[in-house]
Parts: sequence; structure tokens; C-alpha cells
Amino acid sequence: MTGVMLAGLVAVPPPAYAAPGEELHAVRTVTGPDGVEHIHHDRTYQGLPVLGGDVITHGDRAPESRTLSPLTALSTTPQVSGPAAVAIAAKSFPYEPSGSPRLVIEGIGDTAAARVPAPAWDVLVTGTRPDGLPTALHVLVDAATGVVRTTYDDVQADTGHGFHSGDVPLTTTTSGTSTLRILKDPTRGTFGTYDADTRRYFTDADGDWANGKPSNPQTDGVDVQWGAAVTYDFYKQTFGYTLVENSDFSDGPSTLNAGVHEGDKLSNAYWSAQCHCMRFGDGNGVTTNPYTSLDVVAHEATHSVIARTAKLFYTGESGGLNEATADIAGNLVEFFAANPNDTPDYLVGEKVWKAAPLRYMDRPSRDGASPDCWSPTVGSLDVHRSSGVGNHAFFLLANGSGPSAWGDSPTCDGATVTGVGRDTAARLWFHALTTQWTSSTDYAGARAGMLAAASELYGQCGAEYRAVQAAWSAVAVTGADQPCP
Ligand SMILES: [Zn+2]
Repeated sequence: MTGVMLAGLVAVPPPAYAAPGEELHAVRTVTGPDGVEHIHHDRTYQGLPVLGGDVITHGDRAPESRTLSPLTALSTTPQVSGPAAVAIAAKSFPYEPSGSPRLVIEGIGDTAAARVPAPAWDVLVTGTRPDGLPTALHVLVDAATGVVRTTYDDVQADTGHGFHSGDVPLTTTTSGTSTLRILKDPTRGTFGTYDADTRRYFTDADGDWANGKPSNPQTDGVDVQWGAAVTYDFYKQTFGYTLVENSDFSDGPSTLNAGVHEGDKLSNAYWSAQCHCMRFGDGNGVTTNPYTSLDVVAHEATHSVIARTAKLFYTGESGGLNEATADIAGNLVEFFAANPNDTPDYLVGEKVWKAAPLRYMDRPSRDGASPDCWSPTVGSLDVHRSSGVGNHAFFLLANGSGPSAWGDSPTCDGATVTGVGRDTAARLWFHALTTQWTSSTDYAGARAGMLAAASELYGQCGAEYRAVQAAWSAVAVTGADQPCP
């Protein structure tokens, strides 16, 4: 009896296959709305996996779904040894062999002519591709001739078409033997983007995601997934920091997850310490676009970084410092990404509100509400306004005062500030965030902590230390630090 028993049901026996030793093995079942069991089977031949040989039966309906015909008799004795196949694969691609080769029947060639099944060694090689993406490439070496028959990659380098980001690469996940892509990135934790309404990760049949239009539900997912991947890479490569969060799903620890289509035409985005997730609204389509631009995604992801480091309370001056940190990182990630569809700047949310940027770093008062300079009442402002003091200080530290390529930045003390450059400013800010600032640090404490960071990284009263003093003094945040000679 070759019928397959699955939980609670007796399946129709799989069709008889031609060659002796050819077998089908049920692996999963999808039940249609009319009760028909669609049963996926993997195929083996004399115990060897038949790549491309899977078959789906549909209850008692004929025909079954398959690509490969029943096999004709094959010799499975390899003429090429496993180690020889590994050597051939290693010579053919600039990657390192990984693990042991396995003997298979290969029937997945790119053309019908190439899909004539034959024994092959499946050799895994791994490394980094010229475009910077990781690769885990399966090289199928003909077990009779030693010719490379075909390859396939476990890292699915898909393409997404975002609304803000344009055409961008995505690294996605497949499940088992299915070719269906899931919008989860196995190379960056398991970061994934889902629909906030259905709480299901986005999926795609062919790896060509969305169409750049907000009307396509995947489009916002592409912008967020790509933005989060870039943010992950920025933190890893710039600071050696891994964006890790507890998932709001039950699939265990993972990187931060994201939901899109949050609310009803919501013109906002947020990170929540409750769900350890970030959520993005669609915008209203009239005055606002989807809140899924790169600086917004990096801003929200940075709230999770703050929650794992300084834990700045989201109120008063520490709340302003928290928001400024998120705004700064949002723009640093723009520079890191250098996407021609979203060119870097020191503007915050310039692509989400159609009329103007949400915030400005060179002169925060350009938004009509944020302060350029500290005052004793700053802490009573909304945190998205009191952030102006921190944003302004960072801008001055990076770029200096007066006109520059990125704006025209005034000083509150009339002094001239010489910038230390974006990379050094970022290093100082992140070191203070992760080693000096505590949950209730105010702006005076931010200055003191950043000076301690400057002393540690560059020496007391070095050029960087003096620049930190000058930048904070220029936004009217003074301190008890000794003046340098
Ligand atoms: Zn925020």
C-alpha cells in the first residue's frame, strides 16, 4: 500500500511513477475551500532527492501538478567523486566550499532541454557577491562528466519597487521547498515586514516585489524592509552595533519587525516599547505620503537602539535628546545609503509631508516651532520640538556654522563653529549615547557626556573636544567643563 496517511485523513495514493525506486513523499497539505486536499510531495529516486521533481496531487482530480515527467532508469553511481566535485565548484566560483556535497538527481535547468534529470553533486559555496550581497550558492556538478549543470542561491536577491526608495535590492526568505518568498531577511537577524491589519508577513511568488505605487499593498513594505536593511547595515558597519529586538511575534528573538498600513490613513509612524515593533501609516494621500521614507524608518529603528542603550525617558529634555538622536540617525542613514531617489540631507521627513520637511537640523526654527537654542523652558515643549536643540548641536558639530552645502546654521552665542565632519560627529554622539548618557540625561548632561566621550576617543582638549564644547555652547548649552588652554 503506497497511500499516504496524514493526520486525520486518508489521502488518495500518489500516482504510480515509472522508474523502479522512484517515490513520492507527502510533505504538506493545503485544503481548498471545497475541501480538496492539495498534497505536496517531494520525489526521490533510489533514495536520492530529485531537485525539481516535486508533485502536487489534488484529491481525486487529475492531473497532478508537476514539472518533471516520471523518470526513466538512471545509473546513480557517480563517475566524479564528491571531493572532485567540490574542487570543480571552488574553481568555477570565487567562494568558499561549505559542508559536504550531497548526491542528487538534478532536474532544475533553466530550459526544458537542460531539465533532463541526471545525477549531480550539490556543492554549497558561500561568500560575498561583487554587489555586496551575501551568497550561499548551490553548484550542481554533473556526477558523470564534471560539468557544472546549473546553480541556485539560498540567498534570494529580490528586487523591490518602493514608493520613496525606487528600485532596491531585497534579501528574502523561502520556506522549505516552496519558491514563495517571505519578506523576512535571513542575513539581518530575521527582520521582517508585515501588514499591520492582517499581521502576516508579505509574500511574493517571483521575487519582483510591488510596483512603486501606494495602491499596491507591498509597496510600503518594500520601502520599510529596504530601509530597515540599510539601517541594520549602517549600525553594523559604522558602530559594530547589531540591531536586535524581541519580536512581537512568537517566532523567538529576532531583529526588529515592522508593520505597514497601520491605522486608517495615519500620517505618522512610531516605535513602541510595548510591542518592540515599529509601525508606519499610509499617509492621507492628500497632504501626506506614506510614512515609510528612509529617514523615518531609520528614526523609528533608532528608538530601539536608544531603548537598549541610554534608555532616555520620552519626556522633558531627555525626551528631546531621544528624538534628536533618532532624527540624527535618520539622516546619517540617508548619507550611508546614498540612494539617488532619496538624496541625503539634514532635513527630517522631507518626503512624507508634501508641503515641507517635518524638521530642519541646520536651523530648527525653520519649522516655525522648534527652538534653535536651549532655554530653561525647552523641557516643557513636545519632544519633537525640544529635539531642535540636539539636532542643531549635531549639525554644528558636523558641518560648522554659517552657510554650507547642507544649510545655513546660526549660533546662539555669536561664535563661529568649525565642524569635525559627519563621521566624527556620529562617532562622538554614538559613544556618548552608549557609554555616558543615562535615562534622565538633560542637555547639560548631554554636553558633559559627549565631552567625556571626546576625551576617551580623541584626548582631552583635542580638536574634537574643543569642537564639542563649541557646538553645545553655540546652542546655549553650557557646562562646568574646564576651558581648554
Ligand atoms: Zn521619534
